[in-house]
Amino acid sequence: MERNVSSLAIVLHSQRYGQLNRRLKLLSVDFGIIDVVSYGARKSLKSVKAEVFSDGQFFLYYNPVKKDYTLKDAQIIATHDDIRKDLVSTYSALFFCELLLRTNGGESAGEYQLLSTALDLLSGLPLYTDRILIQFIHRLTDLLGLRTDLTSCPICEREYGPQEVISFSSSLSCPCCSRCASLESNMLLPPGARRYLVVTSPMGYEESVQVPLSPAAASRIKNYLLRYAQIIAGGALKTLSAGILQTAVDL
Ligand SMILES: [Zn+2]
Repeated sequence: MERNVSSLAIVLHSQRYGQLNRRLKLLSVDFGIIDVVSYGARKSLKSVKAEVFSDGQFFLYYNPVKKDYTLKDAQIIATHDDIRKDLVSTYSALFFCELLLRTNGGESAGEYQLLSTALDLLSGLPLYTDRILIQFIHRLTDLLGLRTDLTSCPICEREYGPQEVISFSSSLSCPCCSRCASLESNMLLPPGARRYLVVTSPMGYEESVQVPLSPAAASRIKNYLLRYAQIIAGGALKTLSAGILQTAVDL
């Protein structure tokens, strides 16, 4: 007995499925990350258009016996097509999708809102890619319950000094003081970068992206957080393997 269901969702991934169909991965507010088959997606002009980065209300059939979802219709709010005009923006958006798929376990409404805003910002502010990317990872760590306040060590509870460089605990996957750090960790967060993350923590996403950062500081914080992203993802990410996001610098 199939049921009609619907949810706000974003297409994280899309791949061929058989000759004419596509299998999508949706980040949905109501059902978390789900696999959805879009039948005839490769053939018919009338078929539902739901490409990667599309954000909208998705109408699905759910089969509780087979536990699978079929795409029936979609009211797309934003296609985010502008993102594809720029290589770094495209890689950033693909990185967001991959990271969410790999860390799947946070609160889906919060993750949907984070990705929806990130894709809107990438479409509207292509020159701010570094800051959009930095804040995406910073905010995701909060949603995943990994964020520490960055003012004191979460292990020994000692308050950090103003000029202290923060180390990293591999066992807890979070920043900590150098005495509590794992020996093999080379994740170092300098004081300026830490201050930026602390100052922007309580802000909204759009507001935080407006906080000025020099290109050098942005690049340092970004590369720290890209390495952090691979730690919380449990290994190398495909969207980072080409090195495009690591080397790109906003003007
Ligand atoms: Zn400590």
